[in-house]
This record gives sequence, structure tokens and C-alpha cells, in this order.
Amino acid sequence: MAKRLEGKTILITGASSGIGRSCAFEFARTAPRDLRLILTARRIDTLKEVAEQIRAEVGEGVKVLPVQLDVSDPKQVKGFVSRCLPEEWRDVDVLVNNAGLVKGVACAPDIAEEDINIMFQTNVTGLINMTQEILPIFKARPDGGAGDIINIGSIAGREPYAGGSIYCATKAAVRSFTDSLRKELVATRIRIMEIDPGQVETEFSVVRFYGDKAKADAVYAGCDPLTPDDIAEVVVFVAGRRQNVVVADTLIYPSHQA
Ligand code: NDP
Repeated sequence: MAKRLEGKTILITGASSGIGRSCAFEFARTAPRDLRLILTARRIDTLKEVAEQIRAEVGEGVKVLPVQLDVSDPKQVKGFVSRCLPEEWRDVDVLVNNAGLVKGVACAPDIAEEDINIMFQTNVTGLINMTQEILPIFKARPDGGAGDIINIGSIAGREPYAGGSIYCATKAAVRSFTDSLRKELVATRIRIMEIDPGQVETEFSVVRFYGDKAKADAVYAGCDPLTPDDIAEVVVFVAGRRQNVVVADTLIYPSHQA
């Protein structure tokens, strides 16, 4: 698998924490020679720390570029590659569309408009715009194109729950967009894949409860959630398959959630 990933340029959104951060480490550990990692998120200082930690662990064989990017802002996403990436970093091979969030626990008609907007702008519009930004690079390659898009959806896109209707709707939209895109690109070497985590302990719940750590911790009390590494291992596994192998759709949850 390492051989297939060597020499690749991987772009991860939401790489400053949780699953995205773990993906960065997992790619670096798996292919520690001649890999380029573009790490994006809003918190640039945190991204720089992640980049340093990766270099300290795996050495200089992996080149890491932290770049600030708010995927919810279409103006930042459109032209991101030519505007923000040095020439030698533009030939992206793998896009991990991971940036995402949930805000609040609320039922209609009491869902805050601000929360509705940020969830759709990040989880849906952001993911679609990133895809549209990177896809031309893939399509320019011979024989109809080549490259991987790995979208991080959620179990919530398959099994909606009360109090999370907007988040669930965004992840159902990701699922539908991913499936359509895969059909549009059939018979090319552009692989469109989705990984849907169940409960993973990250900053996700802290964000959901507007920074209230006690409420976030209570979510995981008495159960055994997945770690972000559990998801990252699968992300790197699917990216490392032979180009003809499309691991299209994967659901991963902790046993208590089955
Ligand atoms: P975290 O909160 O730990 O990480 C979310 C990441 O997304 C952060 O790096 C954050 O960085 C980034 N992000 C948020 N908004 C934006 C934005 N507008 N632009 C760019 N980056 C952004 O949560 P997880 O690691 O758990 O979440 C990662 C993905 O996994 C999400 O898509 C989430 O929906 C999905 N997921 C998570 C589950 C869980 O239980 N944890 C379950 C199922 C799916 P920054 O703040 O620096 O911008």
C-alpha cells in the first residue's frame, strides 16, 4: 500500500483536529517517503503545530504544507489551488473532504437560522465547492482522468435522529451528492468514495455544545466511542487500494451503536 501512495499529493480539509488530523498522521506513517500533505482548516496556528508534529514523528520524507482555508466561504474555495498553493503542490491526487460540524441540539421550529446556515455552508456547499475546485485537476489526466475523492459523511446521513435534523439532512445531502458524482465519473479512474463514521470522540461534540466541554464529555460517558485513528486507518486503506478498486461506501461505528 505504501508504494501506491508514495509520490502522491493529498489534500485534507479540517486537518486541525479529530479525524482530519488523524488522517494526516496516518498518511504520513503509511508512506513516509516522498508524500506531500496539504493540511487545511480555519485555525492556521493549530495546522502549523500539526505539521511540526508530523515532521517530528516521520522526518522530512513527508512534505507538509499547512494552508488556512474556510470551506464555508465560496470566495476562498474558488481558485484556492492557483491562488494559495505553490506550483509544485497543485497536482493533487487525493482530496479528503472531511471539514464538517454540528451546531446545537434543537427541534423545529426552534432551530437557530445561524446554525442551519453554518451546517449547510460547511458540510454541503463547502464539500461540493472543494470537489469542483479539485475535479478539473483529476479530469485533465489521461484516459478520462484519475484521482480520489474521499468524502466523510456520517451515520446521521443514513439514520436521522431527533434534535439533529439539520446535521442529518446535510449528511444525507453529502451521501446523495457522492452517489451522483460516482455515477457521473463511471469508467474513469477517478474514484469517489464515502466513509460514514458513527460516534467518534473528537472536538465535534464540543462544537455541537458551543464550547461546553462538560456537556460534550457527558456524550461519551459510559460508552466506548471510536477514536479518530479508527477512521483515519480506513481512509488511508481505501486510498491505498489498486486504482481499479473502489471502496465506495463504508459505515464504521462502535459496537455499542450497532
Ligand atoms: P472536529 O471538530 O474534531 O474536526 C472538525 C474539523 O473541521 C476541524 O479541523 C475544523 O477546523 C474543521 N472545520 C470546521 N469548519 C470548517 C470550515 N468552515 N472550514 C474549514 N475547516 C473547518 O470533528 P471530527 O473530526 O469528528 O469531524 C470530522 C468530520 O467527521 C466531520 O465532517 C463530521 O461531520 C464527521 N463525523 C464526525 C463524527 C463524530 O462522532 N465525531 C461522526 C460522524 C461524522 P477549524 O476549526 O480549524 O476550521
